[in-house]
Formats: sequence, C-alpha cells, structure tokens
Amino acid sequence: MPVKETSFPDSIIRRKAGVGPGEGPEKGLITLPGESDREVADLGSSTYLTTTVDTMVNWARGNSLWPLPFGTACCAIEFMSMVSSHYDIARFGAEVVRFSPRQADLMIVAGTIVDKMAPVLKKIYEQMPEPRYVLAMGACATSGGFYRAYHVVQGIDEIVPVDIWVPGCPPTPEGLMYGILKLKEKIERGEIKR
Ligand code: SF4
Repeated sequence: MPVKETSFPDSIIRRKAGVGPGEGPEKGLITLPGESDREVADLGSSTYLTTTVDTMVNWARGNSLWPLPFGTACCAIEFMSMVSSHYDIARFGAEVVRFSPRQADLMIVAGTIVDKMAPVLKKIYEQMPEPRYVLAMGACATSGGFYRAYHVVQGIDEIVPVDIWVPGCPPTPEGLMYGILKLKEKIERGEIKR
C-alpha cells in the first residue's frame, strides 16, 4: 500500500528524518520524540509507529492534565481566564478542572498562602493520586510576593514539591498557559516520576 506523507511541523509525532516515505527501510516510519535512534529493519510497506510504553504513557499524561485550582487570591482570576473560551486550555487537553483532589493530577496554586492555610494545601496535595504535579502561579505562591510578613508562606515549596514556577503579579493567562506547556514537556520527557 503506498504511504502518504503528511508533515505537521508542530506535531509531537514526527516522521523519521533522512529517507522519504516509500524508500529503503524507513518506508512509512513515524516515531515519537526520543525514539529517533531506534534501529529499524525490514519494515515492509506499511506504516509503523515505534515507541516504548513509557514514552506513550508520558505522552498521554502530558496531554490529559486535570487541574485542581487552589485559588486564594487575584491570580485565580487569571486562571479562570485561561480556562475560558478566549485562551482555552482545552486545546492542550487540560480543561477538565476538578475541585476534588482524588480526580486531579495538577495542583495550580494561584494566590497567597498564609500559615493557617498551609496544612490544608499539604493535605489536599497528599490526597491527590500519583503521579501528581504542582504549579506555583504568581509571586505570592512562588515567594510570598510583597507579603514579607510572619503569617505568609514565603513560597509553597516550603510545603510541597513544585514542578513549575510561573512568575508575575499576576501572571497573564498566556504566561500560565506557557507554564502548563512547559510542564507538559517535562512530563513527556519523563523527568517527573512522583
Ligand atoms: S501574585 Fe499578585 S496577583 Fe497573584 S495573588 Fe499575589 S498579589 Fe494577587
């Protein structure tokens, strides 16, 4: 069966470079990222997808994040903007916002965390199933922001492990979306094992 060549420069699924479709042992081969060095022989004339289970699972995880917004202040408004139609995080598979930690794998901490709230945040994090990820959104979640005060947590990494930091006061919806895309890349590269 002849192989039809399609090219999407931004797609994460790429045809192996070098030999065009229908020529040599690379006939019809497409590979996932990180798989370009795999040895391939005798592929016949059909289209093949070569990968490992880990690559596939990481790819699926990166493209199906379920965010739990831990919004305590103004940053949460920017989060709402990002999940709404104008920016639309659904384009990256992360639109299923859940307010139960049992149904979420990405905690987005959007706002100031005071000492009184810290144990609650930690408890909710611990209730999330693994693998779980944390994004610190804005100056307050990242470092306490301008609240240099005894009652404010000076960065949520004092309580939970943070995977992505998004700077700003507040970060723009684009900034938050960029942070989620960077997290997605880290997950797909298999860097986060928690
Ligand atoms: S970083 Fe700025 S916008 Fe975000 S919660 Fe703190 S004060 Fe509000």
